[in-house]
Amino acid sequence: MRRPVTRRKRTPLVDVDFHDAAACRGEELGLFFGPPEADDEAPAERELRVMFAKDVCERCPVRSACAEDALTRGDTHGIRGGLTPTELVRERRRRQRQRSAA
Ligand code: SF4
Repeated sequence: MRRPVTRRKRTPLVDVDFHDAAACRGEELGLFFGPPEADDEAPAERELRVMFAKDVCERCPVRSACAEDALTRGDTHGIRGGLTPTELVRERRRRQRQRSAA
């Protein structure tokens, strides 16, 4: 039996053009997202990969737009805008708290 296909409502991109100037263009996707199975990556390898990915983001001219896009879309995978998924979640929560306090 086939599983039903569910479609998530897509949030519009903050700026669809920023990808053209991305420093990660041409880089291996695995650098930012890791191997398909998380268990295939040892903690030390992950740490090194994340460090290299963040290094690419550090010199990216569209880093802010990328981070805003990830935060707006609720992305929880991969390194985006120089932030890990955990850092993205933390920043999203920080903004929510800020909005609630206002
Ligand atoms: S900030 Fe990082 S992930 Fe985002 S476009 Fe630039 S290099 Fe790619």
